[in-house]
Amino acid sequence: MSDVETPLVAARKQLASAAELLGLTPGMHEMLATPRRSLEVAIPLRMESGDLRTLIGWRVQHNLTRGPGKGGVRYQPNLNRDDVTALAMLMTWKCALVGIPYGGAKGGVRCDPTGFSVAELERVTRRYISEIRPLIGPGQDILAPDLGTGEREMAWMMDTFAAGRAATTPGIVTGKPTVVGGTAGRASSTGRGVAAVALRVARSLDLRPPIRVAIAGFGNVGKATAHFLADEDVRLVAISDADWGRHSPTGLAIGEGDPGSPPPGEKIEREAVLEEECDVLIPAAVAGVIAVENADRVRARVVVEGANGPVTPAGERILVERGIEVVPDILANAGGVVGSHYELLEPHISAAVMHDRIAEALASAYDDTQDFARREGVSLRDAAICIGVSRVARAHLTRGLYP
Ligand code: NAD
Repeated sequence: MSDVETPLVAARKQLASAAELLGLTPGMHEMLATPRRSLEVAIPLRMESGDLRTLIGWRVQHNLTRGPGKGGVRYQPNLNRDDVTALAMLMTWKCALVGIPYGGAKGGVRCDPTGFSVAELERVTRRYISEIRPLIGPGQDILAPDLGTGEREMAWMMDTFAAGRAATTPGIVTGKPTVVGGTAGRASSTGRGVAAVALRVARSLDLRPPIRVAIAGFGNVGKATAHFLADEDVRLVAISDADWGRHSPTGLAIGEGDPGSPPPGEKIEREAVLEEECDVLIPAAVAGVIAVENADRVRARVVVEGANGPVTPAGERILVERGIEVVPDILANAGGVVGSHYELLEPHISAAVMHDRIAEALASAYDDTQDFARREGVSLRDAAICIGVSRVARAHLTRGLYP
């Protein structure tokens, strides 16, 4: 049996149970289930070979009640509008859960960025921004990095948007290079938050140090998480990336060897990292890696979702039955969007101060979530979503309805 639930079906089900638990009216539930705006665009791309290819991209604004849209842009093969919509909805609950004044949005282009030259990637990025321009802007909808995009793409996005305005507009993207208005600590802010949440949950479960951690995915989020944890009383027992897996029961030393290459350690299959015996397992790459097929082989005490949606709903049911706690993505990886908030608010903030504030914001959101979960007898995921949904619903009621 495999999991058949798509991310959008799962996100709508989560909203439905939150609406029921919170006693929302059917009208409010329907409004929160419906994205405010959704734009599909064609991106014609001139290849180096001279050929013409046409890619498809999206920008979905799920909710704009608590503030402008906020959410990353991903370049991913097989991406579709429903997946982007689900991610936009989760951004709405995430911003509300950690108490920052934004709505939820998400964007992306269906493509494999590793198959493009730098010049092709630049053309994709610039054309995507010109196509979604009517929807975005500082105060309207602010973009950020996600899978397959980083500082370089953020700089191109800002420049393209600015070119059409005859004005510099650093507020259109976060996660940009410091030389054009970015903030030093932003690139590692998601990892800082994931590390803070992992340590907090380890403490709340009374796990004895050194905490044994396995990390699946060694990109922006996974690598930064590993670096922050390496400074703590933590043993990194296994790490993987798309093309490799390494483990060492005595601990992997990261930072040795070439950047971009695996840490020295025993070679294992990439998927075996998900089944490594450890205290905390952090899937930090792509969605759906812990599912019905392998959830019964996970040997961690707790799973902290560094990535978005790495545990499928059916996979989570198996983990929960086995007594393995799951800290949901909207809580665990919210450090990125909190960092983005500081980039917009105080671009000159030091990385250390920003990271301390992220750790504080996430620890407090974790405590709120745990209290709610215990009080209502629900999972941490349901509790996190309920807190987010209730804050957005309250904001709707407070603002009132136009006209
Ligand atoms: P990234 O592209 O920098 O890194 C992803 C890494 O995962 C890459 O190194 C890739 O090689 C590797 N990978 C791909 N498939 C894998 C697999 N099956 N097993 C192990 N590794 C695999 O992306 P990122 O920015 O680190 O984002 C990772 C996840 O975190 C995504 O789900 C993203 O939505 C989420 N996220 C990112 C941020 C952020 O600030 N970048 C914020 C919140 C959430």
